[in-house]
Amino acid sequence: MSVSELQELEQRWLMPTYRRAAVEFVRGEGARLWDAEGREYLDFFSGLGVQNAGHCHPRITEAIREQAGILVGVSNLYYSEPGIRLAERLADSSLGGRVFLCNSGAEANECAIKLARRHAHARRIEQPEIVVLEGAFHGRTVATLAASPKIARDDLFGPLPAGFRAVDRDAAAALEAAVGERTAAVMIEPIQGEAGVHPVPDPVLAAARKACDSTGALLVLDEIQTGMGRTGSLWAWQQGPVRPDVMTAAKALGGGLPVGACVTAPQLEDALKAGEHGSTFAGAPLAASAALAALEVIDEPSLLRGARELGARFTAGLRELDGIAEVRGRGLMVGAGLEDGLDPAAIASRALAAGLVINVPAPGTLRFLPPLVIGEAEVDEAVAILGRCIGP
Ligand code: PLP
Repeated sequence: MSVSELQELEQRWLMPTYRRAAVEFVRGEGARLWDAEGREYLDFFSGLGVQNAGHCHPRITEAIREQAGILVGVSNLYYSEPGIRLAERLADSSLGGRVFLCNSGAEANECAIKLARRHAHARRIEQPEIVVLEGAFHGRTVATLAASPKIARDDLFGPLPAGFRAVDRDAAAALEAAVGERTAAVMIEPIQGEAGVHPVPDPVLAAARKACDSTGALLVLDEIQTGMGRTGSLWAWQQGPVRPDVMTAAKALGGGLPVGACVTAPQLEDALKAGEHGSTFAGAPLAASAALAALEVIDEPSLLRGARELGARFTAGLRELDGIAEVRGRGLMVGAGLEDGLDPAAIASRALAAGLVINVPAPGTLRFLPPLVIGEAEVDEAVAILGRCIGP
């Protein structure tokens, strides 16, 4: 079937929620993708930060194949080992408390929001509030939408749930002032991805931690895009000044399958009780086996070091290019602010035509999220292609 035939079917059958480029990908391996006509691409987007281990990593593929032939899913009303082992692996690698498994980033954040509100009610806060940062993106369900000032359109989707307050991303004092007796949680992406790869300044993170400690509010870090090695450590907060009380993960966690998780610190072990939360597919053996394999591949010192070193090589290469005004990010989560007058969408589509998959998250910005398994040659190849594509 040709792309134009797919477009016709899409127009007939799918809700028009996405603007797609006219390319059909049919195969992937490592950092490479192939389209239906056999053309090869270098993937610097990883399915929006999902394929951190590269496409079809043999260990993940094998884990999926093996588990698919044994048991795909059972209800959470019975036991199955992979989901429980995944929870142990996640807690051991991060906050040491308990884990709720789910199927996406938005669901992981929904769990964190419910948990923070539940914890606040246990502290006799009747109208709990969650403080978020301007520019934040936490998902597209109704509650996570309300937590995402960038897209929280009351005129389109209202009434949105009350109880969220947004403060300036870069203002530590404003954040501290916004946290008070009613605050259930402060929820932050360590680096705002959808806003255009904007690292939250260390003083803001430190102010959030301090304000939470003095009021009893929870610090929730959304590691859905920054986690799973993306910034050069398994979780981004491990390179920063603060440790959260709650962390959410998804995207690359499932090695390509839909897996999310909300992880707590030990003191929150009992925050949610039996019957207070749940999800039919969550923690099912197939998805959990894929996630365990993804963690095995990614939580590996040499791969994480590589992400930091290759990130440094890539950002240095970008800084040499004409038309780039600013380079932001950490590890292999990189954003480039373009000089005025340059059109990022035109540049991304020229790059695609030249065989490089990149993304435009926000006006004037290019975003790069390559698989962590790339090498120096792929970094240099991407910089060379961009050098030919960036221009008016
Ligand atoms: N939080 C962050 C930081 C994200 O980048 C995303 C998705 O881009 C989400 C939450 C929502 O994740 P999902 O699309 O899996 O629901």
